[in-house]
Amino acid sequence: MYKKPFIAGNWKMHKTVSETIETLEELKSLVKGVSDRTIMVAPPFTSLSDAGKLLKDSNIFLGAQNMYFEDKGAYTGEISADMLLEVGCKFVILGHSERRHIFGESDEIINKKVKKALQKGLTPILCVGEKLEERENGMVEEVIEKQLEMGLKSLTKEDVLNIIVAYEPVWAIGTGKTASPEDANSVHKFIKDSLKNIFSVEEDKSIILYGGSVKPGNIVGLMEKHFIDGVLVGGASLSPVDFSKIIKF
Ligand code: PEP
Repeated sequence: MYKKPFIAGNWKMHKTVSETIETLEELKSLVKGVSDRTIMVAPPFTSLSDAGKLLKDSNIFLGAQNMYFEDKGAYTGEISADMLLEVGCKFVILGHSERRHIFGESDEIINKKVKKALQKGLTPILCVGEKLEERENGMVEEVIEKQLEMGLKSLTKEDVLNIIVAYEPVWAIGTGKTASPEDANSVHKFIKDSLKNIFSVEEDKSIILYGGSVKPGNIVGLMEKHFIDGVLVGGASLSPVDFSKIIKF
């Protein structure tokens, strides 16, 4: 699908509309002409409409940080796939660890969201990752396998070919601690093997991003690894200069 390095920014709950416009104008000029990367940014919901207008016909795709699985209705505070599509989103981050652990999203809910996104033509970026105690207890593969099995439940091979998976160890998010490129690579291999075993998706057809304190200083080591197809960047994506350095690693 997107075989160039895929570099995605998740702004979380940062930046007002005016800050979004300022940041994206700077980013656009910093990455002008870059065609050997797939670039995506996910600003907060309130900024998506303006961001969509600004990024139209640019080399930066727009993504959302979440969405709900129903089409419309009495779901106060929620946002639908159609709302995201209308403002220009092509991607939606689903099952981010902050959604799972702060807002209590279950694998079942995430699975419904993944299915709705696919049905509507949005590309889901499904986040999976273990907590520190799970890693210390040797449970990494067990946790990831369960999140994949449940998050992708009852999908077809065709569906899975249209999904991006982001491996984001919870202990590495926003903490300054990065998984070593070797550790990340081995979990990425495990994810690619799982997608092959469950859905017959060949290793070179799946896209697996790494996320967790990615910075200009550690991007090269990560991207050198065979099974790392790109990165999902939180904190460092807020600065156009840092994010453009990551993009152009
Ligand atoms: C994220 O939120 O997806 C993330 C990886 O954050 P950070 O880069 O700040 O660790």
